[in-house]
Amino acid sequence: MRTPFVVGNWKLHKTIAESLALVTELKNQLASLRDVAVGVAPPFTALHAVARRVEDSPLVVAAQDCYWEEKGAFTGEVAPGMLRDAGCAWVIIGHSERRQLFGETDETVGKKVRAALGAGLGVIACVGETLAQRDDGSTFAVVERHLAGAVGGLDPALAERVVIAYEPVWAIGTGRTATPAQAQEVHAHIRAWLGRSLGAAAAAAIRIQYGGSVKPDNAAQLLREPDIDGALVGGASLAAADFVAICRAARA
Ligand code: PEP
Repeated sequence: MRTPFVVGNWKLHKTIAESLALVTELKNQLASLRDVAVGVAPPFTALHAVARRVEDSPLVVAAQDCYWEEKGAFTGEVAPGMLRDAGCAWVIIGHSERRQLFGETDETVGKKVRAALGAGLGVIACVGETLAQRDDGSTFAVVERHLAGAVGGLDPALAERVVIAYEPVWAIGTGRTATPAQAQEVHAHIRAWLGRSLGAAAAAAIRIQYGGSVKPDNAAQLLREPDIDGALVGGASLAAADFVAICRAARA
């Protein structure tokens, strides 16, 4: 069985001191939680401090992006090996904000995924359609294109370190959530695609998170769906009480 994985994406929020305060609360409040993997994705500046704070706990740390080269003249970029050095175990790649605002493409997502896996990180690869794409009936085609770019041709043996986050763009930060049925339909489609592309064992092992306005009051219904294996949480991960409630819902 797949252990549910809930990750808080803090985006461009929190100083080092604020990050430490939040993660310390999470560490304390989640100490007794079993059978759910929990991670936080602070901004780059707080990664090392947060990773040190959680090293005696089951919490894991993710970065929000990385580059595909390990070193060189790439001003402003951060290498996967540097993330490991800072204490990260995971990295989010291909978030829709990076695709929409920072020119991320299926090709760059694929390069980053391979580099991150090669450096020993786990990868949370984000896929998902815009509202216009959902309305014109191209949701499955868009998701398949994103999947092909991110994980097409990967070694199935890497499945344990691959997570797909289905994040419909129209549900991110909008307060508008996909219904459990809408999300499950796409998650099942993603799992079928993984089965055709990477084989049945990898498809059964790869966790598929849902992301898009997950809150304490809708988490349990979403996470009850058979192909929803956790959540990638934005806004509600910035307050300890909300994020803890979502993590607990993943277990129930
Ligand atoms: C996200 O950015 O990954 C996200 C899901 O944000 P929110 O939960 O705020 O919609």
